[in-house]
Amino acid sequence: MLSVFIGLTFNPYLGNKKLLKLNMRTSLIILMLLMQMLSTNELIAQEKHKIVTAQNGDGIISLQTRHGLSPKTYQAEFIGLNKQKLGKNNALFIGVKYKLPISKTSDNKAKSLVLPIFGKKYQNVKIEDDQLKGAIFYLVAGHGGPDPGAVGNYGNRKLCEDEYAYDVTLRLARNLMQHGATVHMITKDQNDGIRDASYLPADKDERCHPNKRIPINQLKRLKQRTKAVNDLYRKNRNAKYQRVLIIHLDSRSKRENIDVFFYHDKRSKSGKLFSQNLLNTFNAKYRKFQPGRGYQGTISTRELYVLANTYPTATFIELGNINNQRDLLRFIKSDNRQALANWLFEGILHDFKTNKL
Ligand SMILES: [Zn+2]
Repeated sequence: MLSVFIGLTFNPYLGNKKLLKLNMRTSLIILMLLMQMLSTNELIAQEKHKIVTAQNGDGIISLQTRHGLSPKTYQAEFIGLNKQKLGKNNALFIGVKYKLPISKTSDNKAKSLVLPIFGKKYQNVKIEDDQLKGAIFYLVAGHGGPDPGAVGNYGNRKLCEDEYAYDVTLRLARNLMQHGATVHMITKDQNDGIRDASYLPADKDERCHPNKRIPINQLKRLKQRTKAVNDLYRKNRNAKYQRVLIIHLDSRSKRENIDVFFYHDKRSKSGKLFSQNLLNTFNAKYRKFQPGRGYQGTISTRELYVLANTYPTATFIELGNINNQRDLLRFIKSDNRQALANWLFEGILHDFKTNKL
């Protein structure tokens, strides 16, 4: 196309000025035609199937949900488009590229936010859809500031719970925002975005929302984050769906076969159901991706300060224990941290759509 354009401009037969003028006009017209063609091509490109890569823990449902497609509506089409690349029971393979069905309700204008809290690599957050519109989340990554939480040993390195819990929490925050939720990071670190490294160096500069130094005294620390949640809640009290998630990696059980613990306040039926919805998602994922592993998660009540004293429905999640070698080896892989965030996201989405307590 470009050569045709240049060829006309420098046509050797067009010697005099009049012809040259004409030629320029022709060129302009051709240029305009070209631009029009390019923009038409762009429109066509938008109608092409989007290609996406499956991550650790992905199934057809999570992959489509993450990209703004209703899994129920597009399930059959997805299978049809990707027949050759699916495993047993239509399983996806990590790292393999899949075609997405074209959304029939693509009236969401591609909105994109730049949020430095997620770090350079992840700061561009594309809003995929508004499935979680109206939902408000308060995410509390455990420990932080002067308190590293549990410390695991990996070679000659110390792995601190607060850094890993924060990374999973940030990933979850980003997932939620991509689907239209309002998210408040209660513990936050201005210079640790989402990190893909396996070793996340420990620092002590985490702050509590809005921007408070975290005290070393445990009760003061818990009171501080509880107040942060409740102050925000007071401003949003008309919002119907609000959730607090407190995320830790230091479960105390030595029993090998319990993986994830959910705790809720004993007075909160909604918190119990919320925890149940999250656990159900984890159960389904483990059954699918690690059959025969003997995964178990539990839900129980526990007297925990933040659980008991925050106003919105809350759950306290122990995703494992950074002191346990088997868990530590899971947490050091960023793919696994992302998978945990994705599964939490899916459980939350289900809760948002079904939990009316
Ligand atoms: Zn902890």
